[in-house]
Amino acid sequence: MQQRPAENQRLILLNPGPVTLTSRVRGALAAGDWCHREPEFAALIRDINLRLGQVHGSLVQDYCAVTLAGSGTSAVEAMLSSFAPDHGTTLVVANGVYGERMQRMLAAHGKPHRLAEHDWTAGIDLAVIEKCLQSDPSISHLAIVHHETTTGRLNDIAAVGRLCQARGLTMLLDAVSSFGAEQIDAAAWNLGALAGTANKCLHGAPGLSFVLARNDLWASPALKAGSIYLDLRAYYASQHRDGYSPFTLPVQIAFALHEALLEHAEEGGAEARRQLYLARAQRIHSALSVCGVATLLRPDEYSSVLWSYRLPARRSYAELHAALKAEGFIIYAGQGDLGRQIFRIAHMGDIQEEDLIRLCTALTGNLGTRL
Ligand SMILES: *Cc1c(COP(=O)(O)O)cnc(C)c1O
Repeated sequence: MQQRPAENQRLILLNPGPVTLTSRVRGALAAGDWCHREPEFAALIRDINLRLGQVHGSLVQDYCAVTLAGSGTSAVEAMLSSFAPDHGTTLVVANGVYGERMQRMLAAHGKPHRLAEHDWTAGIDLAVIEKCLQSDPSISHLAIVHHETTTGRLNDIAAVGRLCQARGLTMLLDAVSSFGAEQIDAAAWNLGALAGTANKCLHGAPGLSFVLARNDLWASPALKAGSIYLDLRAYYASQHRDGYSPFTLPVQIAFALHEALLEHAEEGGAEARRQLYLARAQRIHSALSVCGVATLLRPDEYSSVLWSYRLPARRSYAELHAALKAEGFIIYAGQGDLGRQIFRIAHMGDIQEEDLIRLCTALTGNLGTRL
């Protein structure tokens, strides 16, 4: 095996999940060998679902969570398979890999849909959405990514949400890389459902993901989910009856998620986490500015969670990645055509002050100062 990290090396993961775990969450992974069909595990899942519903204040009243095994993609696909209509059309608004992935999911599930396509570096153009709505009156749902991790752009969901509210469109939101940190104003956005994951802004371990949906969606007559494993109504029926799940959940990952949710709340919740990430973003951005490294987007277009930077001329990503990995930091490549142009740095997970200082030194050491 190539380049396996040394036994006790502290790796700082600057990729968009999984994240460097706190020792508290890592410790929870070893909490014991439980059976997923015993009441103590059912109670744990009920508590996880309850706490997921409390992470963002605007979801507390009218939304309920279910938890399923799988990465963030499984939650997004489950959300679309369970809530995108068969009679009615879902408009997918895409400006990156994850928006385009939702379109592929709807196609795979045979759900009626349209695509409002944007360049990956562009913000959402409401005029493009309006034009789609005018040309197709059957559009009843709108699927969009909150934080498009392809570039780090925080999409202007407030503006799209106003439009959804005014037109009575139900929003289906990929919040996989924003849940737990960025602001979510569910009622103002006419949010029907969102998908999230344990191992991004919540700082859990990878393997569990979740969907929060408005109570009227849970109660509405079952749509054809087009999938057995991803049929969220089956999860809802059993998890909200007694906490049991239709299929085996990763028990230890659930221990870690529960601990991560406790820690998230104790540290001040989503707004505190957003502020923490923003402070890290500023520090890293300052260090890279000193090296003459430019951002791909305007700084005010980014989320708090991840920023993308242009690779300096004549520097390969592979070389930069290897040099930083040797110092214990994992950065992330661009996707698609951006692969040769950018690198990405996420701000999630257990990054201590000394790690941040070492990171800034490693970045300037490898990229050179231009002062
Ligand atoms: C990470 C991510 C996903 C899911 O990716 P997985 O590899 O399945 O965890 C989906 N959407 C967005 C916006 C993401 O950042």
